[in-house]
Amino acid sequence: MGHLGWTDLWCVLIRPPNKASRLCTETASMRIMVAIKRVIDYAVKIRVKPDKSGVETSNVKMSMNPFCEIALEEALRIKESGRASEVVAVSVGPAQCVDTLRTGLAMGADRAIHVEFPGTLYPLSIAKILKALVDAEKPGLLLLGKQAIDDDCNQTGQMIAGLLKWPQGTFASKVVLDEENKVATVDREVDGGLETLCLDLPAVITTDLRLNQPRYASLPNIMKAKSKVIKKLTPQDLNIEIRSDLEVVQVTDPPKRKAGVILSSVDELIDKLKNEARVL
Ligand code: AMP
Repeated sequence: MGHLGWTDLWCVLIRPPNKASRLCTETASMRIMVAIKRVIDYAVKIRVKPDKSGVETSNVKMSMNPFCEIALEEALRIKESGRASEVVAVSVGPAQCVDTLRTGLAMGADRAIHVEFPGTLYPLSIAKILKALVDAEKPGLLLLGKQAIDDDCNQTGQMIAGLLKWPQGTFASKVVLDEENKVATVDREVDGGLETLCLDLPAVITTDLRLNQPRYASLPNIMKAKSKVIKKLTPQDLNIEIRSDLEVVQVTDPPKRKAGVILSSVDELIDKLKNEARVL
């Protein structure tokens, strides 16, 4: 298939059928929950452990997953526009997740919840934990990154939407909340263009790269974040048993790529494409 340009973008508007118009008086008191994951910083060069059981994480800089930063930024913008009253950041994982949550609080989240679990976690376990937190906190919107850059699973948002039986808008590049009708309109980046969905709230939205540019936490806000509350829970507190049907058999480096060559002319390029790559 040829490469599509911006002029080829198409747009579909899907509205829930027979949706009665409802006046929303609750939106301004809506709580937004944002799931943020602690991952190896995107700028770090990943090293596979010698025994191939995983990647090296000791003495490696860890940060908030970039897509989760975008999710948190969007929640903060919605709150700042008066459409939500509270932003709660949640993270599941080892004790050091508190640092990631502190960053979230410094960016502007009001509260944070840390579900501490030191072992390996897979998306279904995370989704079950998030469901228990949603049941307790009752947010009107759950925002997640479209994927975590460590496992590249791109599953948690879809799984939690399934468990909650909430509508989902994944890969969001634009989110507009309609306060009157309690609907979120989400532009999604799909192959070949944009798709626009209207979701009844409460809903799950996962964020793509172009949704926004996350803010940096200012020094005063970093200081203020130190006194904000981080609630501590364990999976047992939420009656969730962590187990997985997945087993990582081996982690290996990708095959080394051959160095590129600089060609002197277009003719030489065409010759190579025809006779070496055989793609013409
Ligand atoms: P994944 O399905 O692993 O690619 O992750 C997608 C999104 O799910 C992330 O961007 C986070 O928003 C959320 N998520 C995944 N793992 C965690 C975690 N351990 N704690 C909090 N949120 C998570």
